[in-house]
Amino acid sequence: MSEQPLRICIVGGGFGGLYTALRLTQFRWEEEQTPEIILIDKSDRFLFTPLLYELITEEMQTWEIAPPYEEILAGTAIRFHQGCVTDIDIENQQLQLDNHNSLHYDRLVLAMGGKTPLDNFSGVKDYAIPFRTLEDAYRIKERLRLLEEKEAEKIRIAIVGGGYSGVELACKLADRLGDIGRIRLIERGEKILSTSPEFNQEVAENALESRRVFIDLETEVTQVTSDSISLAYKGKIDTIPVDLVLWTVGTQVIDMVNHLPLPKTSKGLLKINPHLQVVDHPNIFALGDLAACYDESKNLIPATAQTAFQQSDYCAWNLWASITYRPLLPFAYQPLGEMMALGVDNATLSGLGINLDGPLGYMARRLIYLYRLPTLKHQLNVGINWITKPLTDFFS
Ligand SMILES: Cc1cc2nc3c(=O)[nH]c(=O)nc-3n(C[C@H](O)[C@H](O)[C@H](O)COP(=O)(O)OP(=O)(O)OC[C@H]3O[C@@H](n4cnc5c(N)ncnc54)[C@H](O)[C@@H]3O)c2cc1C
Repeated sequence: MSEQPLRICIVGGGFGGLYTALRLTQFRWEEEQTPEIILIDKSDRFLFTPLLYELITEEMQTWEIAPPYEEILAGTAIRFHQGCVTDIDIENQQLQLDNHNSLHYDRLVLAMGGKTPLDNFSGVKDYAIPFRTLEDAYRIKERLRLLEEKEAEKIRIAIVGGGYSGVELACKLADRLGDIGRIRLIERGEKILSTSPEFNQEVAENALESRRVFIDLETEVTQVTSDSISLAYKGKIDTIPVDLVLWTVGTQVIDMVNHLPLPKTSKGLLKINPHLQVVDHPNIFALGDLAACYDESKNLIPATAQTAFQQSDYCAWNLWASITYRPLLPFAYQPLGEMMALGVDNATLSGLGINLDGPLGYMARRLIYLYRLPTLKHQLNVGINWITKPLTDFFS
């Protein structure tokens, strides 16, 4: 009687999970060691978050930035299971899913990302829209459509958070709305993009200024209602009428991870060793936004797609090594710089000694992201669409 293959369950098909799964299929497995690989995600589509802004401006379509897993995994040995993992029985190595199914695992990869905290200020949960998922982007587009339909003189949008998402959204929205847009960017700190290289900060500030985005620094939100936002600046509170509030502040670990009996930092991130294994749990790997990963100088590595993508290579290797009795590799992070979309046809890029902005930065960002999209087939489909789109738009 043949033995059951060992089962690897990967929970979360984002930058950490999907790319780990794809990478795993590229290793050479001896027949008796070939594992069963199951990727589980609550959504039916992978989301390439750095291009989510392009959906708001309709520069790109859903199929380009969010291809279905069925399509990405076609022809691979990876089994996709759509469902939300609601609990994990660590002792018995069982995943509990929302459809009352359960799945046994021999190796587990936790890559469920994070969520945007919305319950810190009054009214935020009810009236502000976060910007993290495809559903968030659809909600924003629908609200914009309704506001634009009214043919009002102006559309007033408050974007809370002067980090990457806030700045990129502000520029894209300013370009989409043109003269009728009144966009305010609200930041608690003394400056926007506080962790960005100087070049990107300067380019972003110019992009915001030229689009007449109003920036409130050292300003705290105290309340959001259906048609207003209250802001505290130097002890004084102002309530301003708004049509839409977008919330881009912070990342938090999802509730399910909070409840797991696994070692965590004070911020709730999973504690992992340099091989990306959860501390004291060698069969469980964790990567991406939910894991606390440190560089050689013991600094916390930023929770970005770039980090999760780089970790996925090591995670796949270490899973393979742990099954084929080879040595595991410690994760080595390579900061490659950062890119930002600053409106339609404008972006900035700073890294590896190169600084680019304007249309050149825009082109470079597009090409780098094209290369990062999952599977060669999808890259080709999107690339061909980008080349032919101007022609099809012209003749339609
Ligand atoms: C709008 C936006 C723009 C960004 N731009 C950039 C950028 O330009 N550059 C950059 O480096 N980073 C960027 N980031 C950050 C980047 O997206 C994250 O750091 C990265 O996606 C983290 O990867 P991950 O695998 O941990 O999680 P994710 O990619 O978020 O994937 C998590 C997956 O887990 C699934 N999931 C969650 N809970 C469950 C559950 N209980 N059961 C089953 N499935 C579950 C989700 O559906 C999702 O598919 C951006 C983020 C956002 C929101």
